[in-house]
Amino acid sequence: MKALMQDYALTLDKLFDHAAKWHGGREIVSRLNDGQIVRSTYAALHRRAKQFSNALLEAGIGVGDRVATMAWNGSRHFEICYGTLGIGAIHHTLNPRLFPEQIVYIINHAADRMIIADAACVDLLEEILPQCPTVETVIFLTDEAGMPETSFAARPYESWIADQSETCPWGGFSEEEAAGLCYTSGTTGNPKGVLYGHRSNYLHALMTLQPDALNLSKRDTVLLVVPMYHANAWGVVYSAPMVGAKLVLPGQHMDGASIHELIESEGVTYSAAVPTVWQMLLDHMKEAGAGFTTLKRVTVGGAACPESLIRTFHDDYGVDVIQGWGMTETSPLATVASPTPSIAELPFDAQVPFKLKQGRLLCNIDLKIVDDAGQRLPHDGETPGRLMIRGPAIASDYYGEETDALDEEGFFDTGDVSTLTEDGIMQITDRAKDVIKSGGEWISSIDIENIAVGHAKAQLAAVIGVTHPKWDERPVLLVELKPGEKAEAQEFLDYLDGKIARWWMPDAVVFVDEIPLGPTGKIDKKRIRERLKDYDLP
Ligand code: ADP
Repeated sequence: MKALMQDYALTLDKLFDHAAKWHGGREIVSRLNDGQIVRSTYAALHRRAKQFSNALLEAGIGVGDRVATMAWNGSRHFEICYGTLGIGAIHHTLNPRLFPEQIVYIINHAADRMIIADAACVDLLEEILPQCPTVETVIFLTDEAGMPETSFAARPYESWIADQSETCPWGGFSEEEAAGLCYTSGTTGNPKGVLYGHRSNYLHALMTLQPDALNLSKRDTVLLVVPMYHANAWGVVYSAPMVGAKLVLPGQHMDGASIHELIESEGVTYSAAVPTVWQMLLDHMKEAGAGFTTLKRVTVGGAACPESLIRTFHDDYGVDVIQGWGMTETSPLATVASPTPSIAELPFDAQVPFKLKQGRLLCNIDLKIVDDAGQRLPHDGETPGRLMIRGPAIASDYYGEETDALDEEGFFDTGDVSTLTEDGIMQITDRAKDVIKSGGEWISSIDIENIAVGHAKAQLAAVIGVTHPKWDERPVLLVELKPGEKAEAQEFLDYLDGKIARWWMPDAVVFVDEIPLGPTGKIDKKRIRERLKDYDLP
C-alpha cells in the first residue's frame, strides 16, 4: 500500500529556501581576499543566488550542465552553489591548490562550460585555459574595479548578476538529479570525479547534524575552515542553513593569526578542519599567549588526529576535539568519535584512546572489513582489514567511468585499512597504499606518526615503508622539527620506546626541512616516497 504522505522531493534548493524564510536574518560573514569583512544574511544571499540562477539561464546553462568554481570559502561562492543547483545544473568545485596539469585534466574530464574564479586565481587561469576547450565563459568573483588584467575574455561577477531578477523558479526536478561534482586529489593515478546528488547530499546533511555527529544548531556560529572544494566543506554548506547556524567564511586567509582573530571577533563556537590547520592555529596561540572565549568544540578529520592536538586543545584551551572520518566518495562524513555512555563517564585521560579512533558509524552507514579476497573479517576491534562502506550518500561509481565500483553486496572499497568493533567503533590503521608490510605483518604508519608528533621538538612526522631485503619493508620516520630546534635520531627512538611494539620501531629517523603537504593540507606520502625511493637503510 502506498503511504499517504506528501510528494516532497528532497532537493537542496528547498533547504536554502527554508534558511532564507525561517532563518533569514541569521548572518553569513565573509573575509574577502583583501582582508575586508563583508556581512550578509541567508535571506540576502538567497536573493543573490536567484539573480545568479537567472544569469546562468540567460547564458544557456541548464539541467545537467557543469558550472565550475575555483574559489575559497566566501559568501559569493556560497550563493553560487545554491544558484547553480537550484536550476538543476551541477556545481563543480575545483581545488586551486592542485597541480595545474591536474586541474586541466579535471576541467576537460568534467567538460565544464563556465568557470567562476577568485581574482587571485588569474595566473593559474592564464596558464591552463588554453588547454581547456570546453570553457566558454570566465567570471571573476569581484566588481568592475577588482578585475584583473587578462589575455582572455572575462567578466566581473557583480555586474554579471546586477540586473537580474531576484525571483527564479528552483527545483521541479527529481531528487535523484546530480547537484555537485568533486574530484578526489588523485593521490594515485588521475583524479576521479564524485557526482553527488540532491537526495544524497540532503540525507548526508541530516545525518551530520545529529548530536553524535557535528551537533550543529541555530545557537552555533560556525567557522568554515575546511574548503568548499573539499567535499562541500564536509557537507556544512548544506547542514548549516538547515538549522540556521551563523556562518563565518574565512576566504584565503588560513594562517593561525587570521583564524584566531575571526574566531574571537565573530564569537565562533564550532569549526572543522584537517589536523595541519589546527596545528598552525595552536602554534600561533602559544606564541601569542592567546585564548578562546567562545570556541567550544572542533571536528578534526581528513587525516588521523594526533594525540597532542586533542590534549592541547583540551588542557590549555578547554576545547573539545572530536575526530571524524570520511572521504570525498562518502559525502564525506561517515564515522565520528562521539563517546558512548560508558566512555562519557570516564575522566578525560581515559577517554583519549577512544578519541584517537575514527569513531562510530552514523545512521545510513553500513561498514564491514574484508581480506584481500573479499572475505569478511571479524568485528573484534583487533583484526585489520579493507574497510568497505554502503549507504545512500556513498558513491556507486566515478563520473565518466564504466566500471562498477561496488562489491557483490553493494559495498564500496574505501582504500583504507581499519579495525571494527561489534558496536561499530572504527579505527583506521592505514591507507591500503601506505600500510607497511614487514615480515608478512602490517605496521600502522598512522600509529607511529601520531605518537612521534607528540615529541616536544616535532612539528610534523610522517612514516613510510622503505624496501628491505629481508623484511620486504621497514618503517622510516621523517621528522620536521619546530623552528629553531635541533635533535638526534635517538631522542625520537627513545620517545617511541615502550609506546609501540618493538618490531614497529623505525629503522631510521630522517630530519627534513619540510614535510610536503598535499592540496587539502594533508601529509603527501606520494611525494615523500618519490624523494626516498633510493634511500638506503642504515
Ligand atoms: P584525498 O585522497 O584527496 O585525500 P579525501 O579527502 O577524500 O581525498 O581523503 C579521504 C581519505 O583521508 C580517507 O580514505 C582516509 O585515508 C583519510 N582520512 C580521512 N579522515 C581520516 C581520519 N580521521 N583518520 C585517518 N585518516 C583519515
